[in-house]
Amino acid sequence: MTIGFDIVVVGAGPAGSLAALTAARAGVTVALIERGPYPGSKNVYGGVLYARILDSVIPDWPERAPIQRWVTRRSTMVLTEHGSVAMDVRGDAWSQEPHNGVTAFRSEFDSWLADEAVDAGATLIPSTTAIGLLYDGGTVVGVRTDRPEGDIGARVVIACDGVNSLLAREAGLYDGFDASNFTLGVKEVIGFDKAEIDKRFGVRGREGVDIETLGGTSGVSGGGFVYTNLESVAVGVVLSLAGLRAAALRPEEILRRFKTHPSIAPLVEGGELLEYSAHLIPEGGLDAMPELVTDGMMVTGDAAGMCLAAGVFLEGVNFAMATGIAAGETAAEAISAGDVSRTGLGGYRRRLDGSFVLPDHRRFQRIPRLLLSERVQERYSRFVVDTATELFTVRNTAPKVGLWRIMGAARRRYGVRWRDVIRDGFTLIRGFK
Ligand SMILES: Cc1cc2nc3c(=O)[nH]c(=O)nc-3n(C[C@H](O)[C@H](O)[C@H](O)COP(=O)(O)OP(=O)(O)OC[C@H]3O[C@@H](n4cnc5c(N)ncnc54)[C@H](O)[C@@H]3O)c2cc1C
Repeated sequence: MTIGFDIVVVGAGPAGSLAALTAARAGVTVALIERGPYPGSKNVYGGVLYARILDSVIPDWPERAPIQRWVTRRSTMVLTEHGSVAMDVRGDAWSQEPHNGVTAFRSEFDSWLADEAVDAGATLIPSTTAIGLLYDGGTVVGVRTDRPEGDIGARVVIACDGVNSLLAREAGLYDGFDASNFTLGVKEVIGFDKAEIDKRFGVRGREGVDIETLGGTSGVSGGGFVYTNLESVAVGVVLSLAGLRAAALRPEEILRRFKTHPSIAPLVEGGELLEYSAHLIPEGGLDAMPELVTDGMMVTGDAAGMCLAAGVFLEGVNFAMATGIAAGETAAEAISAGDVSRTGLGGYRRRLDGSFVLPDHRRFQRIPRLLLSERVQERYSRFVVDTATELFTVRNTAPKVGLWRIMGAARRRYGVRWRDVIRDGFTLIRGFK
């Protein structure tokens, strides 16, 4: 038997719940199917999300969403084996509305967001996995599920099934699988008393900290993070798949070493291990995105490679939410116009072009590969950490050495070439200008 809805949304992550919420509010019937027993039960992320995109759809989210802390301090560190250089930004403005980032548990946040979609009129169907697409000619007209007689017919399917999307692949929207477009994130959640976290991170009340690192990952290209929840700290590493294979190191061993780094250990040692998880991240950016639309179907969030992982940024949830909203609006519009073909769904790309989503990806198109390159991860990191360490070392056995000579010595030690620095500098400046 085939049950029918106007729209079936596959996956109740942030992209799926907002696609369902937006479409249901526009008055169409929506099924939101989720393979986990409840939304968020299977979802992994680091812990910081930027939720301002919710202002337009759930304006009172700051009072109602299950938030742990407001991120009031953000530190970006370059790590070598034994040293680090950090840029630490602390903003009083971030502790007041409109807040910037927040920390939240996905099990709580995703469930809350899916409930908002249900309140808007969507039908949530948990413990149900989409195992394929239904077609009428070349047009997608629903999904097959793992339930007996569980096909769900729909005029539009919105694939929000996360990284390595089964549905986008089945629809032929990706050409093949290129491992260099993905990283592996592994993460632990470690429990502490709130007072202990406040003391270690220099915060109080609901203030929270987001620390991102470049390197510190045992020679495998990648980075790490430390985020504060109310009574736990999330610590993790993000590792290039190719680097991981070449290094023949287990990801959990790299995380163990990361936790012993002198800049990280004082923040995370002790405490009780509450959770360990691992998940792929689509880091390829614009170059690795699939076709976003086919007849009767759109792809959103991580399923469409929308995570912005440009080294110092790891923003997936906000991009997923924005693409979900755009897909939900487009689907409802196309259904009311009676054209769900690729052309009829063309408003999806137009919306993404007109928002921050595709412009941000264009701006940072070349940054993820640059930041994962051997030059940045190994040579530049050592050059920067050695130069800063030498600059601030006081010997008083001879006059201070000038910065240019310090840099020259570090440059020769690590084989840093000025022409690479200039070229890579331009790439960075183009991204951030
Ligand atoms: C270690 C790590 C750290 C990260 N840190 C951050 C961070 O701090 N901040 C940030 O913004 N982003 C972070 N990200 C990225 C972020 O997690 C993703 O970009 C975001 O979750 C994408 O949302 P989504 O809705 O597209 O997909 P997902 O959140 O992956 O949701 C997909 C949903 O679809 C369901 N599903 C999958 N297949 C099927 C199917 N066949 N049938 C039914 N249901 C299905 C899943 O169970 C899931 O609920 C991190 C990722 C990782 C791995």
